Amino acid sequence: MMTDIINRNGESISLEDEKQIIDTINKWLDNEVRANVLAFEHKDEYPHLMVEQMKDLGLFGATISQKYGGMGLPSSTYAKVVATISEVWMSLTGIFNSHLIMAAAVERFGTEAQRNYYLPKFVTGELRGGLALTEPDCGTDLQAIRTRAVKHGNDYVINGTKTWISNGIEGNCVALLVKTDIEVEPRHKGMSLFLAEKSDGFNVGKKLKKLGYKGIDSAELIFDDYHISQDNLIGGEEGHGFLQTMGGLELGRINVAARGVGVANAALKDATSYAQTRSTMGKPIGQHQAIQTKLGDMATRSHAARLLVEDAANAYDRGDRCDMEAGMAKLFASEAAMENATECMRIHGAYGYSEELHVERYYRDAPLMCIGEGTNEMQRIIIAKQLMERNPV
Ligand SMILES: Cc1cc2nc3c(=O)[nH]c(=O)nc-3n(C[C@H](O)[C@H](O)[C@H](O)COP(=O)(O)OP(=O)(O)OC[C@H]3O[C@@H](n4cnc5c(N)ncnc54)[C@H](O)[C@@H]3O)c2cc1C
Repeated sequence: MMTDIINRNGESISLEDEKQIIDTINKWLDNEVRANVLAFEHKDEYPHLMVEQMKDLGLFGATISQKYGGMGLPSSTYAKVVATISEVWMSLTGIFNSHLIMAAAVERFGTEAQRNYYLPKFVTGELRGGLALTEPDCGTDLQAIRTRAVKHGNDYVINGTKTWISNGIEGNCVALLVKTDIEVEPRHKGMSLFLAEKSDGFNVGKKLKKLGYKGIDSAELIFDDYHISQDNLIGGEEGHGFLQTMGGLELGRINVAARGVGVANAALKDATSYAQTRSTMGKPIGQHQAIQTKLGDMATRSHAARLLVEDAANAYDRGDRCDMEAGMAKLFASEAAMENATECMRIHGAYGYSEELHVERYYRDAPLMCIGEGTNEMQRIIIAKQLMERNPV
């Protein structure tokens, strides 16, 4: 008998449904994506048609509850979706990942009116975007942000600059972290999160040029006397923005870890196949022990990364505190992607360095997973702190 997988809100899908979802995504990747990745990647072109297809596939509502029209996928199923797509083109997952973290913040912390208004629009992609947290002067130390919202009647007026914001150009709405009180201690009590839709005063800078993660837009957002209604303050009360943001990071880390699994596995698959077709000294290179030890390590890393992500996602779905598990999954899977990408390139020799293959892309994409959603340096610290908290003497 097939059992159901239950998400954090108690909604369930069957294993049969999960299999169908992954099969449908694989068909879409094979028919519409795989053959086009190199062209989009090297032109750094935004994949508009693929985005429309992702809307049809329901990906913009993947983790939003069924009662708002979403798929209500458990985190464990969603992680498989992200890993599957990342194995073909990691950039695509960035188009709906941070969008869904924004949606999760509304679903977990928003008022009833905010949930009813925004979530159905997020599901269809009519409104879509992501998280606007990072500023030119701070990313890790979010409590040092300077973007400021000042109350003005029933509105707030926002001034400040955000940078590196995924979907900043193509999206039309972001969860915007600001300071509503710059005096209060601890600093996080002066932070609030708004749902900011594009309008006058919400200006977008140019697409940032970057090493990898091509196609998707990363942009600077400049808020210049941007007026926003107090109804857009998530939860309706000032001072909770930092905790609301941190509340989404467990899921965010599981998602980034799942991207790492996808890239690590793509590198492993390409290397395994190349090792059997390229010959030196009269035999396939996969017959040389130097290559076999690389493949052995790569396969072990890929598998371990997948298990860590599954473990963290299951804990998240059960509603358990899982910052340590999500941190371990994110740390290990992103480093696995880095190491597998490097080894894949070495196994491919000069071809690994060629733009005609995908190998050099894995090598450029992997470092992002070590930086985003909390750097790996910070993950190690989070893991160590949790370890001691859970094992007091
Ligand atoms: C392609 C891309 C997309 C992104 N998308 C988004 C997005 O959609 N929304 C968004 O808000 N941000 C986004 N970011 C920003 C990202 O979240 C930040 O880059 C990240 O949080 C790190 O911040 P930072 O770059 O300011 O590094 P810093 O915070 O300046 O850190 C620099 C170095 O110091 C280390 N460090 C910092 N503090 C400590 C400490 N206390 N102990 C030990 N080491 C420490 C860090 O680990 C790092 O190695 C994106 C970044 C990139 C590259």
